Amino acid sequence: MLALILCACTPEKTELTDAELMEKAKELAHKYIMVDGHVDLPYRMQVGGFTLRRGALDVSVRTDGGNFDFPRTKEGGLDAPFMSIYIPARYQRTGGAAELADSLISMTERLTQKWPDKFAMAYSPDDVERNFSKGLISLPMGMENGAPVENDIAKVEHFFKRGVRYITLTHGRDNKICDSSYDTTRTHGGLSDYGKQVVSEMNRLGIMVDISHVSDDTFWQVMDLAKAPAIASHSSARKFTPGFERNMNDDMIKKLGEEDGVIMINFGSSFLDSAYRARKSKYDEHVINWLADNELTRDDPKARSYLKEYTKNNDPWANVATVADHIDHVVAITGGTDNVGFGSDFDGVGDSLPTGLKDVSQYPNLIFELLKRGYTEEDIAKICYKNVFRVWRAVEKVAANS
Ligand SMILES: [Zn+2]
Repeated sequence: MLALILCACTPEKTELTDAELMEKAKELAHKYIMVDGHVDLPYRMQVGGFTLRRGALDVSVRTDGGNFDFPRTKEGGLDAPFMSIYIPARYQRTGGAAELADSLISMTERLTQKWPDKFAMAYSPDDVERNFSKGLISLPMGMENGAPVENDIAKVEHFFKRGVRYITLTHGRDNKICDSSYDTTRTHGGLSDYGKQVVSEMNRLGIMVDISHVSDDTFWQVMDLAKAPAIASHSSARKFTPGFERNMNDDMIKKLGEEDGVIMINFGSSFLDSAYRARKSKYDEHVINWLADNELTRDDPKARSYLKEYTKNNDPWANVATVADHIDHVVAITGGTDNVGFGSDFDGVGDSLPTGLKDVSQYPNLIFELLKRGYTEEDIAKICYKNVFRVWRAVEKVAANS
């Protein structure tokens, strides 16, 4: 069934050698704009102790930690990572969500002020295209958690004016807008009445509705209500993680596609493969025991070479093919390549990234895998940016007409 559907929309497998395909993958990664729906750099800066007063993390040069910086972004061909303005759910209790969002936005702006030859703000697909033609990395912004607007509808416009172009309605807990996939309380049974107002206000202004993190009921109610297509900025297919509501089931993927939306696949291994956690704890246990038995630390050269070899044979992480399986699945469910994109969650999922997709320099590995599976150049362009641009422009259009 899957093979039949795939055959209908992708051509025969390529004749190129792997080396030629890899060259092609790198070429396409740089030829086309590449958008990523979710990169947690602002959060990484915040937990790293960087504040408005204490300056910015220098991502203009290669950084030791994290998954994102300018050199690696250029290497991987990434052009427009949505910077996640992430508001942890505890701010719903303590207050201060809007203040935190404002400061994370200012920290993002600071990157473009400090390194204007490398980074630029982007508030529309047109901005991204302009920046791309100048070789600049665009930093569009999405707000992860509607908590900053949960008490005051006027705040939606405030954050639109500050440049936020999508809002993930909630995060790990139910908020006043809607229920979360991670929260069993089910406070509203989906969207609250206020949440409905927020969605309408987002449509009016031109902010994309992001249904990552929301409960299934919330998703379906957003589909009923929204006047413009929606995105899932960083979600994967539940088929591979049964029972994990944070990912989208087949009916939801189909509906999102019918409404012209896009699901941007999360690269975190636990989003990709439900067996990952068990494999990883077994792996960690073995490593810890081996180090203890040999009285070595991880940094010891002998331990390093052992770990390298052991990891090669017992790799617990998902890999590039697993991510491509999710993309294949969305293609099969929606009947084409119009409704899928990348939403890595780089800088947000710690040590759980797939082998071959450990940072922003490695997107070509994924493009290689897609080419190998018979995806065309046009398919790749759609997945890299055309799909999410279509949604973004549709959202702009609904706003312009309202
Ligand atoms: Zn998230």
